[in-house]
Amino acid sequence: MQMKYVTTICPYCGTGCALNLVIRDGKTIGVAPSHRSPVCSGKLCSRGLHAADAFDEARIEQPFVKGEPSDWETALGKAAELKKYAADEIIVITSARLTNENQYLVKKFAQAAGTSIGVVNGGTGVPTVKLDELKDADVILALGNVMQALPLTGNRIIQAKENGARLLYIGPQSYTAIQADTVEITDEYTELPPGFSALIKNAAHPVVVYLANDSAAAKIAETLNIKTAVLYDTNNGRGANLMGIEPLTLSESVKAAVIVAETPVMEQDIYADILQKLDILELTVVAASAETSLADVADIILPIAAQNEIEGTATNWEGRLQMVKPAVASPDGVKTLDAVLADLAGKMGITIPSGTPEELFTALGAEIPAFANITYAQIAKPEGVFLPEA
Ligand code: SF4
Repeated sequence: MQMKYVTTICPYCGTGCALNLVIRDGKTIGVAPSHRSPVCSGKLCSRGLHAADAFDEARIEQPFVKGEPSDWETALGKAAELKKYAADEIIVITSARLTNENQYLVKKFAQAAGTSIGVVNGGTGVPTVKLDELKDADVILALGNVMQALPLTGNRIIQAKENGARLLYIGPQSYTAIQADTVEITDEYTELPPGFSALIKNAAHPVVVYLANDSAAAKIAETLNIKTAVLYDTNNGRGANLMGIEPLTLSESVKAAVIVAETPVMEQDIYADILQKLDILELTVVAASAETSLADVADIILPIAAQNEIEGTATNWEGRLQMVKPAVASPDGVKTLDAVLADLAGKMGITIPSGTPEELFTALGAEIPAFANITYAQIAKPEGVFLPEA
């Protein structure tokens, strides 16, 4: 029996906790917290603790064409029929959970094909405070379900409260985890209760916290002119945003889509809102590691490696770059996303960059200013490294 621990990043929220995958005889059998990472300091929430199950659940292990098992040559040949469409009739839909390097490749694929690109469950906004600074705030205004979406970021808010901070909260009434000092709770927050405004105005270190995909909260935060924690609730939503990939808009003119789906299996179906629109497209190509509701609308499914099978980097909400490490081999019949995109690009007569994850990181750093002047060696440290502009 062979056992090993592989330290990587939690595949779920944008807090970016490090975790140790426990590997026995080439299989992920569990998760242990990492005490070396300052992000989580040996703690994980229940989602992180169960990440091992999520990696293996509902894996897709061979290509499918129109719901029938197929082979790579046939499936990629069918997928390459994308080239029949004008560039503005195709959309590339990416995931906010890809590594930076894979996100870069998806973006380059869209650029080479001349198509638009959008990310599902990403977000926008630039935080002006770091995770650890939250505990030094004296007033924290939380807009929306931030504690539930990013539990260990929420821990810092609890720490602030234990240090004497006032916690103000506005959000759905069903959310009652922390409501100390709450003056008023409302389902639709469009403006602050007067008591909140006075507390924020008189605070020495006030911080507003909201989710990066919550545009109503962003509007309130903007008017406050105080430090802001914009929380991306997917593990690389910030990376997608820094790469200039906007949240998805699906126009009526779109006839075909290439979708790189979330990995691992999620607890909520983030594609539910767009399934109807995808269902009427003429050609939908899905690259995914696990089965999701997209299987119901996909014409072609291409199985890709899961996050615990690849190397790369991820950017947490505060702009900290950390390493994603491969812990196990992919099942037979599964390819890495870079190989799938390269094959598909080749069949469509376009080219995209290739290389090791480190070479791709260097390429994206040369092209995207936010990632410039960072080395892999810096990212590989237990604490990772902050992007200079983050
Ligand atoms: S807080 Fe987020 S990153 Fe940390 S273990 Fe939970 S889901 Fe994973």
